[in-house]
Amino acid sequence: MTQAVGMHGAGIASLPPLGSLPLARGTADRGSAFRTAPDLFDRLWEEPGTRVLHLAGKQSPVQDHRLVLSSAAEVVRPENPVYLGSTVESTANLAAGTHIVLVEHEDVQADLAPVESWLGLRDAAASLPALESGLFVEAVAISNWHATHTHCPRCGHRTESIDGGWVRRCPADESLHYPRTDPAIIVTVTDEEDRLLLGSSAAWPENRFSTLAGFVEPGESLEAAVVREIEEESGIVVHSPTYLGSQPWPFPASLMLGFTAKAAHARPVPDGVEIREVRWFSRDELFTGLKEERLSVASGASIARALIEHWYGGPLDEEPSAGRP
Ligand SMILES: [Zn+2]
Repeated sequence: MTQAVGMHGAGIASLPPLGSLPLARGTADRGSAFRTAPDLFDRLWEEPGTRVLHLAGKQSPVQDHRLVLSSAAEVVRPENPVYLGSTVESTANLAAGTHIVLVEHEDVQADLAPVESWLGLRDAAASLPALESGLFVEAVAISNWHATHTHCPRCGHRTESIDGGWVRRCPADESLHYPRTDPAIIVTVTDEEDRLLLGSSAAWPENRFSTLAGFVEPGESLEAAVVREIEEESGIVVHSPTYLGSQPWPFPASLMLGFTAKAAHARPVPDGVEIREVRWFSRDELFTGLKEERLSVASGASIARALIEHWYGGPLDEEPSAGRP
């Protein structure tokens, strides 16, 4: 069972302005034509090379910084598996053209890996190889969609999973329903002196700051969402929004679209609901505040961290480069 190899690899995984984002490194061929075959899962379970990615409660077994991908022959085929794609290039443990299928379990399976080896995306994805990180992100995202779209929005009838798990069909009115992704903009706003605007969410510990962000509304362009969200959360009016890169964030269904925008220096006013405090930071203020542990910023796999470091010009634990404010 072979298929054409598409255009994949580093050219897609690595976005120039922000570099390689932890959850945006996937290299699998999703096989969007291949997955519509009516006998898809019969064929995949007969194919000796097919591997299974396991999920239980959005966790997957990870050992030695690799996903535990079982042979399909050793896994009981569930009612609704999802086709995740195939490998384009061979890796240390997978041949090129290996098909990967998602199987979900009610609970973690101790016979696959010790209970403590089952990890969530936030804990595991950044340290997985690119291919496996991408498969894990894809698996969690499509799993979240199925879990919340079980019934037809037109008539309320229970829908069924078809096309390898990438469409849900209503048997009552034959309507088709496709996976949804919620676009959200996230922005580094800078003033004339290249200071950065950061806000502290009311839901966070005090003195934790991050870039302002918000969901795109129906009928709205990304650029308009940038201007609206920043004004709502800070009172600052921005211009010249410029796209920097994106990263899926399936908690549960976001796609984070990173922007930078400019503003005239003015006193920001937090909305008092979502945002408790919002202020401008110079690079020195941010570096010193972090070093003295008077404040913290977004960390780990988030695009917020990558955006802040893009503005800063390097890792936040290093002193700001000379010549920058
Ligand atoms: Zn229906």
